[in-house]
Amino acid sequence: MLDPQALARVRAGVASALSDDAADTVAGAFYARLFAEYPDFRGFFPAAMDQQRHRLLRAVDHVVRHLDDREFLPFLHQLGRDHRKHGLTGAHFLAAQNALVDALRTTADPDVWTDETDDAWRRVVSMICNSMAVGADTEDLPPYWGATVVEHHRVLDDLAIVRLQTDADIPFAAGQYLSVQIPQRPRMWRYLSPAIAPNDYRGIEFHVRRVSAGWVSPAIVSETTVGDRWLLGPPLGGLSVDTAPGSEDVLMIAGGTGIAPLRAQLMDMAMRSRNPRVHLFVGGEYPSDLYDLDTLWNLARTNPWLTIVPVVEQPEEPWWRPGPAREFPPGMNHTMVGKLGQVVTRFGSWADRQIQVCGSPSMVRTTLYALRKVGTPMQNVQHDPLGQ
Ligand SMILES: Cc1cc2nc3c(=O)[nH]c(=O)nc-3n(C[C@H](O)[C@H](O)[C@H](O)COP(=O)(O)OP(=O)(O)OC[C@H]3O[C@@H](n4cnc5c(N)ncnc54)[C@H](O)[C@@H]3O)c2cc1C
Repeated sequence: MLDPQALARVRAGVASALSDDAADTVAGAFYARLFAEYPDFRGFFPAAMDQQRHRLLRAVDHVVRHLDDREFLPFLHQLGRDHRKHGLTGAHFLAAQNALVDALRTTADPDVWTDETDDAWRRVVSMICNSMAVGADTEDLPPYWGATVVEHHRVLDDLAIVRLQTDADIPFAAGQYLSVQIPQRPRMWRYLSPAIAPNDYRGIEFHVRRVSAGWVSPAIVSETTVGDRWLLGPPLGGLSVDTAPGSEDVLMIAGGTGIAPLRAQLMDMAMRSRNPRVHLFVGGEYPSDLYDLDTLWNLARTNPWLTIVPVVEQPEEPWWRPGPAREFPPGMNHTMVGKLGQVVTRFGSWADRQIQVCGSPSMVRTTLYALRKVGTPMQNVQHDPLGQ
């Protein structure tokens, strides 16, 4: 598509326009131009645009990194499909092309942004917008589904389990995640991972931890009530266990609500007669953070292929957490103490396992680092994207 010189120009342009100092300016300039030219577009986006800005920049950066292997095409199609939840169609992406090129040009170093760079960039931006338009316009599934909250349990001060019944079947697989919009925060979509497998009664369950200073998670934990109507976007992601005969055993590592997509897969596996062995390390800072241990233990008691190992960073509850100390189910493995990655790698590199790591971005990063350090083959490791 681009000759090597044009590719080098695009990469130099992006390095200059998307440097740490300039990145926010590019995103701000893009949306300012877009909304000035098409005022109607503003209504598609939330009042707070920070997540949306980061998303745009990450997408451009990802495409430019993969320009020579074309691995970006499925990514752009998916991005286009996913934006339908905001009400956008292919025509909107095509309309956005000029605003994006202008934003990049005005932010880049003028010595880098020559006429040739401008030409190369116009071709790349056209390809990005056209691919997103194809993704948006060729999808048959609805942009989102409605669902009603049927239960809301505040299992910790900062953590809630929310159960919903969806209006129709959502074609998700255990291990995938969905975009969610709640009535208290219109147009602020966030990804959440269902904690149970798809089922006949169209039930879906999410485990949500409040992020301090966050927009959506505090409202889910504190303000959600039975009867609330949520919107759920199409399923994304592909965490999965190869259960074919002879497939490798499995290591799962979950921090906090990262247990959700792993638990959904374990429940799905429990419906099958043959499974590989699974070791699940489930961690939190304090014992009470292991809020789901009873369910996991019940699953392990009836499924001998599953071993659960609880891990905490601090063995005692802090003084500021009221209530009795957490009691672990009798018969369960002893609780191990330390950071998840450090504890898991005490047992070696787990080189012969299929591995999944789920949790907060910092937990996933530190666990991947620990695994890499002991020589775990990283091609065996799956994890979800670390941002929206
Ligand atoms: C694939 C995927 C699956 C997810 N599944 C779940 C899930 O099942 N349950 C769940 O509770 N959350 C899940 N999340 C996180 C969720 O999407 C939101 O990011 C989170 O709830 C915070 O949203 P917010 O609107 O409250 O915070 P925002 O307003 O989006 O962010 C406020 C600030 O907090 C920071 N921040 C955001 N998330 C975190 C975090 N986890 N730890 C520390 N700082 C953070 C942001 O960078 C920002 O500075 C998932 C994220 C992804 C990418």
